[in-house]
Amino acid sequence: MKDYRQFYINGQWVKPLVKQDYAVLNPATEQEIATISLGSSQDVDVAVSAAKNAFATFGYSSVEERISLLEALLNQYMDNYDAMAHAISLEMGAPIDFSTKAQAYAGKAHIESALATLKAFEFSRIVGNAQIIKEPIGVCGFITPWNWPINQIVCKVAPALATGCTMILKPSEIAPLSAQLFSQMIHDAGYPAGVYNMVNGDGMGVGSAISAHKDIDMVSFTGSTRAGIAIAKSAANTVKRVVQELGGKSPNIILDDANIDKAVTHGVFHCMSNTGQSCNAPTRMLVPVSKYQQAVRVAKAVAAKIKVGNPAEPGNHIGPLVSAVQFEKVQALIQAGIDEGATLVAGGVGKPEGFASGYFTQATIFSEVTNDMTIAQEEIFGPVLVMIPYEDEADAISIANDTPYGLAAFIQSASPERAQKIARKLRAGMICINGAAHGFNSPFGGFKQSGNGREWGEFGFDDFLETKSISS
Ligand code: NAD
Repeated sequence: MKDYRQFYINGQWVKPLVKQDYAVLNPATEQEIATISLGSSQDVDVAVSAAKNAFATFGYSSVEERISLLEALLNQYMDNYDAMAHAISLEMGAPIDFSTKAQAYAGKAHIESALATLKAFEFSRIVGNAQIIKEPIGVCGFITPWNWPINQIVCKVAPALATGCTMILKPSEIAPLSAQLFSQMIHDAGYPAGVYNMVNGDGMGVGSAISAHKDIDMVSFTGSTRAGIAIAKSAANTVKRVVQELGGKSPNIILDDANIDKAVTHGVFHCMSNTGQSCNAPTRMLVPVSKYQQAVRVAKAVAAKIKVGNPAEPGNHIGPLVSAVQFEKVQALIQAGIDEGATLVAGGVGKPEGFASGYFTQATIFSEVTNDMTIAQEEIFGPVLVMIPYEDEADAISIANDTPYGLAAFIQSASPERAQKIARKLRAGMICINGAAHGFNSPFGGFKQSGNGREWGEFGFDDFLETKSISS
């Protein structure tokens, strides 16, 4: 078992000021795999003070210096790539192949994207009689979730480092192993002391100390809408910038001219990927009434092919949910679907056969779902797909937009023009047509209660920059 009870502050690993141990569990076995410390507001104070001191220098570092440091970080990341994939698989249950090809890969891709953006970025330009300068915002506080742990850490840390900000990171207390490894990479890359600090902890102890801190200039948060609201309220007293990447309930509109077999097959696999624990998962499949029975038949056949398995084993199965809390939440929502009269096409409550321990859940599909049902409105964050029939295109758009969220939306059609027209009518930040991937240089973020910032690529730089004009 690993002892990860120290925090990374001011260039070194240090003991917490107040001792509070926390057991990290392997979701596939429910066994303890590591011990971390839950930090306190005193630990946050020390880390913020280190970041504030470091900003006095790093905030004025040259672009060349920051390019060379990011290159060193990329080298560290690649040298430890397999260890990163392993850490993520262990801490949150992503099967090792998926962890290697998708989860760990995302960290690499975000460092590369920040590097490329930095090399081309214009930090200064002339407008009229003024020089307009983009300057780093200062000390940043990052609060991240467990579902794509290194992806969410790196898509905040890399642009912050690229723009000259200093920072304190609080990773998810449920999945802190990848952050531990990443903090060591930052150290080994040679970043000056205090530029990057990492304090483990929970939302109440460390998260709220970050959001309320008077010396933190911006907070970037990824997680639930519930926590996002609490963070924004607590940050308001210090008028810091708050950037939120929150939940989703993304529609996947299958148009009547689409290849139903292909569209439904892709839609089911996509929804179940990462055991349904992706904020941008296509969780509401919207199908024309005329093709509904066919689509349900295809979905049932696809569900039968989705295997649940041990994350340590190679293969394209899905793993467990991350925690007992998440397991109970997903079970309760599946039960709500049954109670509200939706029809179970596949899966259901209870663990899959042969899994006595571990937070394993069956890949579940509901048909005969109406958009007002709990399972169509609430983010389930598990392998649960709802299939909703619609009458015509206008009905599909109306159902798609009838959600408090607006993160992503998906459209399947034989006509690119038709899909493009519909894309303009959807109130969501990221639209993918016919299975297209959302690239690492495209803006990641949502409308409505899915948040307010944009991460990734050049769009991910804006949140870390202040604009100054010098007129002469
Ligand atoms: P969560 O909101 O419970 O926790 C996220 C992080 O916030 C954790 O580090 C947690 O310790 C911290 N936290 C919790 N309450 C807090 C508070 N009051 N003040 C400060 N910090 C607090 O979410 P989770 O369960 O870890 O992650 C799942 C959620 O994250 C889902 O709702 C999912 O949709 C969302 N998510 C969104 C995106 C996105 O980019 N839009 C990406 C991934 C996950």
